[in-house]
Amino acid sequence: MTKSKLFKAVAAAAAAAVILALCIVSSKLRIENNAGQIPVDVKQTDIVIPETSPPETTVPETTVLETAVTSYETIIPKADPIVFYYNEKTKRVHTNRCVYWDSTMTKITGDSVELGRACTACNPQIEIKKKYIPETKPTVKKAKKVGGEVQSANFQATFYTGGAGTYGAYSRRNGASALISGYSVASSYFPAGTLLRVEGHGLDGVYRVDDTGCARNVIDFYYLRGKVPFPFSRDGRYSIKVSRVN
Ligand SMILES: [Zn+2]
Repeated sequence: MTKSKLFKAVAAAAAAAVILALCIVSSKLRIENNAGQIPVDVKQTDIVIPETSPPETTVPETTVLETAVTSYETIIPKADPIVFYYNEKTKRVHTNRCVYWDSTMTKITGDSVELGRACTACNPQIEIKKKYIPETKPTVKKAKKVGGEVQSANFQATFYTGGAGTYGAYSRRNGASALISGYSVASSYFPAGTLLRVEGHGLDGVYRVDDTGCARNVIDFYYLRGKVPFPFSRDGRYSIKVSRVN
């Protein structure tokens, strides 16, 4: 290769390089021009996102309706059959629908009861072979003077329960209020409305005679079902000291 040929080759290569460089710059400018063509006033909030059309498969209403009707028939509650229960403490026979019924009573499996007395509230239709007559002989020790006019005597404390709106013998008769849980008591010894001060076994307080129908040596404490204070609910019976307030 001569010197002049080498020069021409270098010149040609240089010219090619320049053209290539111009091409690159030119294409870059084009890209920038294209980018610059996007309108600057387009904001993100202007972009409309096409709503997805609701899926048409969620409309088979007839199928849903049929299912609902079918399950409706199955959830109609059947009336509980009448079951008879025996209260071991009071010897009273109740039905499972009685306001005096509670789960501590004994379920009666046969069609008769050897010894008991029918509840007057629910009037259970079951044969009672021998009627239980509660003890009527007063076993209350002779009341003793405890200073002034207040007399006290020993009684047996028992409890019974009922739902809200349970009436006692006296309150029902007088059209007065329903039994008050933790305040109303039953007594066959004290007349209706007597206020009694009770001492012993955590039952200390004043109670009112709103009910009757228990043995004369018993004060029967009324509580809302499930509200019998512990340990009274466990022990069932206590010996307490009772005095009249009025
Ligand atoms: Zn009853």
